Amino acid sequence: MTLGRFGLRKRDYDFPPFRPPSEANSLLLRVTRGCPWNRCTFCSMYKGMKFERREPEEVLEDISMARELYSDQVRTVFIGDSNSLVYKTDELVKILKHLYSSFPHIERVTSYARAKTLAKKPVEELEKLFKAGLNRLHVGLETGDRELLKEIDKGATPEEMVEAGRKAKQASFEYSLYVLLGIGGEEKWEQHAKGTAEVLNQIDPHFIRVRTFVPQPNSQLYDAMEEGRFQPASPETILKETRLLLKDLQVTSQFLSDHISNLVPLHGKLPEEKEKMIQLIDEVLKGLQDDVALREEMEARRHLSHL
Ligand code: SF4
Repeated sequence: MTLGRFGLRKRDYDFPPFRPPSEANSLLLRVTRGCPWNRCTFCSMYKGMKFERREPEEVLEDISMARELYSDQVRTVFIGDSNSLVYKTDELVKILKHLYSSFPHIERVTSYARAKTLAKKPVEELEKLFKAGLNRLHVGLETGDRELLKEIDKGATPEEMVEAGRKAKQASFEYSLYVLLGIGGEEKWEQHAKGTAEVLNQIDPHFIRVRTFVPQPNSQLYDAMEEGRFQPASPETILKETRLLLKDLQVTSQFLSDHISNLVPLHGKLPEEKEKMIQLIDEVLKGLQDDVALREEMEARRHLSHL
């Protein structure tokens, strides 16, 4: 369980169990528990956890407790769990105000959100949240391909993904989208890459963050793999897919692979650093042809990481 660098004791304070890698130094604050959707076939993060909205008073108490210990140190805050936008907007605004008055040096407040929730929320409410200080949203796109979105039961169409992104940007949020490399397996890598680039091109998010799909026990896709109904993509396929995705992208986003599951450290601003990243993929693809140790290292990553 991730507690962040703040040493608050678990028995006194309710921590979100997951946060983006970029929030490693943030104060972690929990307004909900679990996932209100909880159906994505690749995900085991909140399985078995009943979804709950925490009472606003409880959350305000957590903030006050953290303030006593860390008032001057907090620069960034992450709000969990999986989709804080289902919380009542006015209540979330109250919580944000208490955060900003408790920690005078806050520079960024971030949350996970579901695209479907964003697509349905009136833009005026999103603007209220942005004005109250929620300034970055992390959203799981996973894929832009219609068929795959349905298969993984993401609960949103490509059009809703685009609508969510446009609204978030209209409300001035920094928008960060996650792409799940390898989610189409060995069979559907090409449509995954093309469909994902198509959706990303329409949104042009501030950040595109890629993670490599590693089947998780306690998820439907893991069972499908065990039963031979899903063939995970090989390292070559994932690299070819990433190459095609990059090639088709026409965005001005920051491209990041800030996750242990990824095969190649690709980081760069698009479009300026696209060719450099494609070149790196080509070098690794070439290396894989005759470097047994490299292949073994990449295969081993499947067992190293979790979402
Ligand atoms: S991927 Fe996100 S939306 Fe889907 S079940 Fe997991 S936490 Fe919920």
